[in-house]
Amino acid sequence: MTTTNADILIIGGGLYGCSTAYHLAKNGARNVVVLERKAVSSGGTAKSCAIVRTHYSIDTNMRHAVESLKVFADFDHLVGGHVGWHRTGYLIVGPAEHAAPMRKVFKAQNSYGIDTAELTPAEALKIHPLLSFHDVGVIGYDSFTGFADPYLTTNAYAARARELGVQIHTNTPLTGLQRTSQLTTARTPGGDFSAPIVILCAGPWTNPVAAHMGLQFPYEVSRHKVITLKIERPYQMDWPIVKDLTTPDKIYFRPETGDVVLVGTGDHGEPVQDADTLTDNVELQHVERISKIIANRMPAFANANFTAGWTGPYDISPDWNPLVGAVAGNEGLFVAVGFSGHGFKLAPTIGEALAQTVLGQKVRVPITDYDPGRFAAGKQLSGAYGIGSIS
Ligand SMILES: Cc1cc2nc3c(=O)[nH]c(=O)nc-3n(C[C@H](O)[C@H](O)[C@H](O)COP(=O)(O)OP(=O)(O)OC[C@H]3O[C@@H](n4cnc5c(N)ncnc54)[C@H](O)[C@@H]3O)c2cc1C
Repeated sequence: MTTTNADILIIGGGLYGCSTAYHLAKNGARNVVVLERKAVSSGGTAKSCAIVRTHYSIDTNMRHAVESLKVFADFDHLVGGHVGWHRTGYLIVGPAEHAAPMRKVFKAQNSYGIDTAELTPAEALKIHPLLSFHDVGVIGYDSFTGFADPYLTTNAYAARARELGVQIHTNTPLTGLQRTSQLTTARTPGGDFSAPIVILCAGPWTNPVAAHMGLQFPYEVSRHKVITLKIERPYQMDWPIVKDLTTPDKIYFRPETGDVVLVGTGDHGEPVQDADTLTDNVELQHVERISKIIANRMPAFANANFTAGWTGPYDISPDWNPLVGAVAGNEGLFVAVGFSGHGFKLAPTIGEALAQTVLGQKVRVPITDYDPGRFAAGKQLSGAYGIGSIS
């Protein structure tokens, strides 16, 4: 068996593995190796709805969302490559009891330069003519939000990282890990890879990888469903993404190519032991239930057709916020996991901040709130809407 020596080894070629690899190389690291068991962007990232909104009540989340949005909106210039950025704006509706926390978030967004404002139902209807607001207590809107293509984004980071000298080995599953005080060795069917610094970016598969070192991180894997619905009238690409906090599933929907609306949920989903057991089959009961919820918000969808569906894994941490940084008591070991279904939008600047942390450089957008040891220390992050994907 051959052994390849690297300075930094990244496990996982999803969005976080590739964004971090790119930022490491850009910030001066040499001999960075990424091990990906399948293809770049073949894990949770491939299933993402890739919405990039800044509505967060926790300041660190909002800062990363705002700074990352700037990267998505100008990706070709700032990083290089086309990521399918589509600016739509974002309408958030909630029950009356959410009015006070929501107004606080709007103010905070304004302080970061995001143009969020509270709208009347009549004003909101001008932006999205199919919506009904009969049961909502508060409506907010910003024009900055959009979505990108998760596959293009991850592959753009991978391509730029390769240009800067990063080696990305696809079809290279890690099958074992051995640590000494100086070096970690990753075993793969094609040979070993050794490095003094290892970064775990294996998304929902991080714990199976960490188990080789006797470690486990506090997150749960759950199955989330996405469906697309269609009516005769084309669903316009310039209609805003909608987040509906009045619904138990905290649904969100956005335009998708093919004149359809794409609908996902912000609930806890169905816990699963193994992310590899997920299939794309979406149960009819789910389609029927979500269709009713959509018809309540958009009466024109009362007889909509179900056109497609898939499922994807969330890696949900106890406070629905990521675990990013050094793993205490394990010299040279870093992790980025627990993105809890909202990690796409944060990847540009969290990848940057993690790279800066690993290299001992000044961190531009701090990640100290995401300390992987916070739960063991009895701390957790808490947002205005309680624990959940809008935190
Ligand atoms: C249905 C769905 C909708 C979402 N919608 C949004 C959204 O609208 N907005 C938003 O901000 N976020 C969203 N997210 C969340 C976001 O997409 C994820 O947080 C993010 O993509 C996670 O990236 P990752 O790199 O951590 O994980 P992954 O993409 O899962 O990457 C991990 C990689 O590790 C590899 N790997 C696993 N085991 C091994 C091994 N043994 N050896 C080598 N490689 C290994 C995997 O193959 C995979 O490529 C959504 C997620 C899902 C599932």
